[in-house]
Amino acid sequence: MEIRIQNLSKKYKDIKALNNINLTINTPAMIGLIGPNGAGKSTLMKILVGQLIPTEGDVLIDGISLSKREKYLKERLGYLPQDFGLYEELRVEEYLDYMASLKGIKRNRKEVIKRVLITTNLEEKSRIKIKTLSGGQKQRVGIAQAILNSPELLIVDEPTVGLDPEERIKFRNLFSEDSIDKIVILSTHIIEDVESICNLIIVINKGKVLFIGEPSELVKKA
Ligand code: ADP
Ligand code: ADP
Repeated sequence: MEIRIQNLSKKYKDIKALNNINLTINTPAMIGLIGPNGAGKSTLMKILVGQLIPTEGDVLIDGISLSKREKYLKERLGYLPQDFGLYEELRVEEYLDYMASLKGIKRNRKEVIKRVLITTNLEEKSRIKIKTLSGGQKQRVGIAQAILNSPELLIVDEPTVGLDPEERIKFRNLFSEDSIDKIVILSTHIIEDVESICNLIIVINKGKVLFIGEPSELVKKA
């Protein structure tokens, strides 16, 4: 997959959340999107998942405008927003089964759920009610639902917010294994959470790209 972001701007009334972003991303890539609060990270992610329409510019997925990419949005994309809610009363496997039904996954649903439970290290929690899980475990349930459709592009907004140090480390391990054949974009305002697992760092601030490169280059500059 190639994602080509061209002259992309997004305004909310007079706030320029994104200001002329130009970027090309190819599979495979494990990307850390870094910037302080208000930098424009969520806005960029919401445009990539089709939830927001740009004010100017375009995003091309394999050469075709995102606005014409309904199938990509449905089948090739996984998204975990920052403020996702879980059905706390459901057991993990019930929740995943429900989310799989919403995503139209009919074939091999049991096996699909087993696969995402293994990937997110939640096999032993499958019969447990979501409300009794820790913050990190809930975050992994969120990831599990985002990868039910084996997306080629996985976008996760601020996945480490609210996690304790031990949970942060487990979280990093989760992604280090899972990015070989896809594009993963993780946003954060804490660089340490992504620098060890990402091979590309994009720093944005005030809606502009300040840096693109390998984590080691960023450390040299800082
Ligand atoms: P980040 O995810 O990096 O914290 P956001 O993309 O959420 O940044 O926000 C970028 C800028 O756009 C901020 O100044 C924010 O206040 C503003 N903003 C975001 N969403 C809205 C909205 N729905 N209406 C008005 N302003 C918004
Ligand atoms: P309510 O009628 O109070 O909204 P719901 O049964 O719809 O109750 O939601 C129960 C919980 O599930 C809430 O915490 C909500 O945030 C969460 N929730 C709602 N929609 C979704 C969704 N699409 N995916 C995951 N969780 C959701």
